[in-house]
Amino acid sequence: MPVAALGDYDQGNIFARILRGEIPSQRVYEDDHAIAFHDINPQAPLHVLVIPRGPYRSWADFSANGSDAEIAGFVRAVGAVARQLGLEEPGYRLLANAGLDAHQEVPHLHVHVFGGRPLGPMLTR
Ligand code: AMP
Repeated sequence: MPVAALGDYDQGNIFARILRGEIPSQRVYEDDHAIAFHDINPQAPLHVLVIPRGPYRSWADFSANGSDAEIAGFVRAVGAVARQLGLEEPGYRLLANAGLDAHQEVPHLHVHVFGGRPLGPMLTR
């Protein structure tokens, strides 16, 4: 079910639980600022989620309240993951859903990294 992007950070959301190690994930990357793991319901041959370690609900929340080090670290981590997955040459797509209209399901900022096949048009019309 989509959730609103507004309101307090929910410490019980599934990505918070993954960060705390309470539930497993197939991690492909981690550093001081971010972790990345395979999406449980992949929409492409490669579908990885990159999340900041800090408690941010959305891009707007993160960009307003994250420290410069957290923001730089997260952006670098997204690039590192794409490189590590070998996606620079064939290409890939980044996507971040925020709020109801975008059907954000998990209220912890995440960037989807899609690759491994031609990805088609950006949005359905
Ligand atoms: P969004 O709609 O942008 O909030 O996407 C949330 C994504 O999280 C979906 O693609 C789900 O398949 C994925 N997801 C939900 N639970 C898990 C989990 N335990 N491990 C990995 N991915 C998950």
